[in-house]
Amino acid sequence: MPQLHFDHVTKSYGDVVALRDVSFEARDGELLVLVGPSGCGKSTTLRLIAGLEEFESGTISIDGNAINNLPPKDRDIAMVFQNYALYPHMTVRQNLGFGLKMKKTPTDEIDQRVLATAQSLDIEDLLERKPGQLSGGQKQRVAVGRAMIRKPAVFLFDEPLSNLDAKLRVTLRDEMASLHQRLSATIIYVTHDQIEALTLGNRIAVMNEGQIQQIGTPQEIYQTPANTFVASFIGNPAMNLISPALLQIESTADCLGIRPEDFSLGDKNSSGVEAIVTGIQNTGADCFLSVQVASKTLTVRTVSTTTLAIGDSIYLQVDLAAVHFFDTTGNRITE
Ligand code: ADP
Repeated sequence: MPQLHFDHVTKSYGDVVALRDVSFEARDGELLVLVGPSGCGKSTTLRLIAGLEEFESGTISIDGNAINNLPPKDRDIAMVFQNYALYPHMTVRQNLGFGLKMKKTPTDEIDQRVLATAQSLDIEDLLERKPGQLSGGQKQRVAVGRAMIRKPAVFLFDEPLSNLDAKLRVTLRDEMASLHQRLSATIIYVTHDQIEALTLGNRIAVMNEGQIQQIGTPQEIYQTPANTFVASFIGNPAMNLISPALLQIESTADCLGIRPEDFSLGDKNSSGVEAIVTGIQNTGADCFLSVQVASKTLTVRTVSTTTLAIGDSIYLQVDLAAVHFFDTTGNRITE
């Protein structure tokens, strides 16, 4: 399976710089997730790879061959759109076979590839239905099938799960992961959902304001965020970012990052810093406390069997090994 390189790409829409000198690679057979808040440039990145827009500078290549001057149909790339973009008047069979028909593929080959694709996605029973007769999850499989059938070099997925309800999203997220394993395809997958990024990505590129903030495995991104943006964007509830003085920690760093799960609770006689419980959110397995230290509110994870009540005092302790340190510009430093 091929590699895709995005090399020093800059793209503006009038005065808006959507991508600022962006470089990354999607490796052979890798599922690379682009994640970031709305407007950070994720969809623009996909659209440029697909050839749907022009850009000012940089190169996009597959296996070393520049593709940015090729028309979309010659790029060997298939895109699955957020709204699936199925043809409403065609059956599933016709939707799946449409691209091959346009390429004048022989009818019996189309039939055979439609059947094989439908089998691999378990949608054989739906072949004679039209999109209006399908559930959200079924439409999504058809859209994936329409991409798969072309056997492209690279798959692009643009928020394919965002229109589904929460339960179906989890099921299809698992399906996406196993589909990726079976296809061992090179996939670039866009989402604004950091949980989806952490669970699906072989690697994750975290974007903000038209730039890649960090690229790495889910573990690297979670355990060693490169800056305060990545630190607060990845992880839910977000990492606490505080000044060292607040917790009486001696440090030359400007800012400390502590994840909710990295606090432990001591008692009054311990060396912990006193905090007042202002909110309690029990999620079943975990309990998240909002606590106030001086004028700052922090989030602390504890066990769901806690007997704490609002207004109680707790004593926060932190293992320094779990603390992240950032300088005045927000970049990670090692102490
Ligand atoms: P994302 O997919 O991360 O939400 P986009 O790639 O769609 O972000 O957008 C990146 C930036 O480019 C945003 O500031 C957005 O407003 C701007 N943008 C996107 N498409 C257009 C367009 N067709 N015309 C003008 N500005 C655009």
